[in-house]
Amino acid sequence: MFSKYESNPKLKDAASQWESGYKDVIEVTNEDGSKEFAKGTIRGVPPFHKPEIIEDMKGKTLVCESENCYAFIPGAFRNGDTPNKMQPARFEIGGEGSLQSLVHTLVVPKTIRKISCDTLNVSDESLINEMKELGKRSVQMLIEGDEHMIGSLKWQLNLTDEVDIDGTMISMELKPEDMSPYPLEEGLIPSEIVREYKDTGSLPVNIMGSLRQSFHRYGHYTVASLHMHNYIGNFITLAHDKAEEKYADDFKNVSVDDVMHYIKDIEELGDGMDGLCRTQSSSR
Ligand SMILES: [Zn+2]
Repeated sequence: MFSKYESNPKLKDAASQWESGYKDVIEVTNEDGSKEFAKGTIRGVPPFHKPEIIEDMKGKTLVCESENCYAFIPGAFRNGDTPNKMQPARFEIGGEGSLQSLVHTLVVPKTIRKISCDTLNVSDESLINEMKELGKRSVQMLIEGDEHMIGSLKWQLNLTDEVDIDGTMISMELKPEDMSPYPLEEGLIPSEIVREYKDTGSLPVNIMGSLRQSFHRYGHYTVASLHMHNYIGNFITLAHDKAEEKYADDFKNVSVDDVMHYIKDIEELGDGMDGLCRTQSSSR
């Protein structure tokens, strides 16, 4: 599952020095002795460990927090002045950075250092559980919030404003075509759910039942800072499908429960089986 990360010993080494607190930056030493900051960091610092970024997020897209973690809506959108600089839901506006679902939050640890899910192990079980709980609470808040709560599901569904993207005004109003046209496991189709809401104002009964929680493995993330994606399957966007398509056979999203099972298996198998298991899982 984590074979890509495992095959990069220089990055592993640099990341473990940062995670253990020995260094405050992730700086990779190359073969020729030259040094460079790890990709996905800001001059070596994983983004969610930059105080300025956390402060900015607290004033804009923070949804809730727990003892060790924050939950917020993906923000810091660069290409236009969206409300609270939130990433837009429409692919036409946000491209690949758009929200994966109309209800989408990220959970990050406040101080615990992890470059990505690739370095999680059995001793992180309570952190993972805390992240899952907070993720669940954050999406629940967005589902329950009314249309005046910026970032809530109803707010997204009722948007009519325009946003200035490079001098062109583009409507933020959602259309069924901005949503995934594929049926979920539950049999519902996101574009149909939005069409239904626009026509009748009604929403599916068990929205929380389609909660997805996932990580992006090394090679599939642009931010080298552990973050859990929490999103509602009923409201999966076109942007989500485009990202999954791009990584075709090598899924971008790995479910949190799969990661947890994998970590536990590795622990039980011991070192001898480790390499074999990793290769097998990566070809899944
Ligand atoms: Zn990610």
